[in-house]
Amino acid sequence: NDLKTDVVIIGSGGAGLAAAIEAKDAGKEVIIVEMMNMVGGNTLRATGGLNAAGTSVQKDQGIEDSADSHYEDTMKGGYNINNPALVEILASQAADSVEWLIGLGADLSNVGRMAGSSQDRTHRPTGGAPVGPHVVQVLKENAEERGIEILLETKATDIITKDGKATGIKVEQKDGTKFNITADAVIIATGGFGASEEMFAGFDTKLAGFGTTNHAGATGSGIVMGQAIGADVVDMDQIQTHPTVVPSNGHMITEAVRGNGAILVNAKGERFVNELATRDVVSAAILEQEGQTAYLVLDNSIRESLSAIDGYIRMGITLEGTTIEELASNVGMDSDTLVNTITAYNGFVDGVDADFERADMPRKLIEGSYYAIEIGPAVHHTMGGLVINAEGQVIDTEGNVISGLFAAGEVTGGIHGGNRLGGNAMTDLIVFGRIAGKSAAK
Ligand code: ADP
Repeated sequence: NDLKTDVVIIGSGGAGLAAAIEAKDAGKEVIIVEMMNMVGGNTLRATGGLNAAGTSVQKDQGIEDSADSHYEDTMKGGYNINNPALVEILASQAADSVEWLIGLGADLSNVGRMAGSSQDRTHRPTGGAPVGPHVVQVLKENAEERGIEILLETKATDIITKDGKATGIKVEQKDGTKFNITADAVIIATGGFGASEEMFAGFDTKLAGFGTTNHAGATGSGIVMGQAIGADVVDMDQIQTHPTVVPSNGHMITEAVRGNGAILVNAKGERFVNELATRDVVSAAILEQEGQTAYLVLDNSIRESLSAIDGYIRMGITLEGTTIEELASNVGMDSDTLVNTITAYNGFVDGVDADFERADMPRKLIEGSYYAIEIGPAVHHTMGGLVINAEGQVIDTEGNVISGLFAAGEVTGGIHGGNRLGGNAMTDLIVFGRIAGKSAAK
């Protein structure tokens, strides 16, 4: 019972779904295979937002921004080891992808800023609600409306080739059923390898024993399948840890909490880093603190600015106090130190951060209740992966295109260089997912 289609896509995260919709809209029959029992992958866990410059949403809010600035921030954030041609595409096509998502029914009307961005360009649903689940839902509905077939609990095990061209995939279903899906084009959209300690610690030994923010399906299988047929990889040792993950349950606290004004203090109640420094810098600074954790501290006005925070409170991972002193005592921190830290920070808000040179300080922490969340770093995003060109085609180790094979999303490498900026993963998935879908349909 082999299947045949025009375009077969491995993985139903943001990249796979976006690719599927574009390929279908270009007139092709599409099948998506997804090894988990639900669609969405790690994209479901994306909370921060989607970076794009020059969108209608920004214009409506009087925010002046440019793709050039987005490009520069992305290169700088990635330590300039990014592939400039891919970053150029990311930045210049981001706004169109936002309009495309809005056209599909997405709400991206809330614009904020995340670390490393020099402008407010992180798009999210109203109220700052998590972006990933919303975008996945919108894409899933659009895929279903278009009659795109999604086979759940169906894992791709190999890419089939003939005369060097990808001609389909081998799959295995949960009950052990195996069959082939032949297609004119194969798109690998399997996500990263942040859930495979064997892989991430293999590429960066410092990460042995680290937790992960990733869903269980982030095993790197697309990279392995691609390499098996000659695909090249890049930047495999560039692995991002997210600085603010709750040690007790692995839940990631969105960077937008800091973006909206929260500070980070150590167990003594002292700030120790520019909270908006890049993720690697903040992670390293936390690991230098006693207990290798720290506390995000915020007030009620920050809570009201971001609905995700109410979710954290419901989850029971926040400590609370009506005053700073009460919060300190509930955390078990010296209250004079915490009061002094917050007073000093508040004094910087309308001027400059004389201690850590934090550039964006949107509000003073002056409104009770106050909250603290204990956090530490965990593996979050794998920047490296399959080498692609501007058309989303996979490149082999000799530098040639592998005919019929495309890739998009976290499985690819080169876009984020040495460090991915918050909000750029969603942009990557949608921009390059669409490119792969359109290219595969040609
Ligand atoms: P991206 O963010 O790049 O879209 P995601 O992690 O959101 O990546 O989605 C990738 C999806 O691919 C996940 O749902 C994951 O379960 C799925 N996946 C990974 N490997 C395979 C495989 N070998 N076969 C089928 N699905 C896979």
